Amino acid sequence: MKCSKCGFDNPENAIFCEKCDWKLSETYFPEMRLNRGIFSIAALVLGIISVCLVVFDVSSIAAIVLGAIGLMLGGYSFNYSRLANMPNKNAYLACSAIGLIASVAGFMFGFVDVI
Ligand SMILES: [Zn+2]
Repeated sequence: MKCSKCGFDNPENAIFCEKCDWKLSETYFPEMRLNRGIFSIAALVLGIISVCLVVFDVSSIAAIVLGAIGLMLGGYSFNYSRLANMPNKNAYLACSAIGLIASVAGFMFGFVDVI
């Protein structure tokens, strides 16, 4: 059975790859992992921008919009990072969590500013 991660040809009854220990029943998607990790970082960046927009009084509407997007990305990526067995899991979790909190803050402060 060919390993989907490293391509090593394992014996037919093997469960884990003899070369890289990957579980052979699972397909390896390196790009997918990378992309999901980017959501955590995007949530963090959006959250921080959202807060900055309110704090420096640039645009409350933009802060609300970016905060809402950061909120969705943060929630999604936090859940994904928590469940997935990805490298740097805790770093992505932290990014998502901080992004989520910052997005909520930016969204709410922006909203209070408008009304
Ligand atoms: Zn392998």
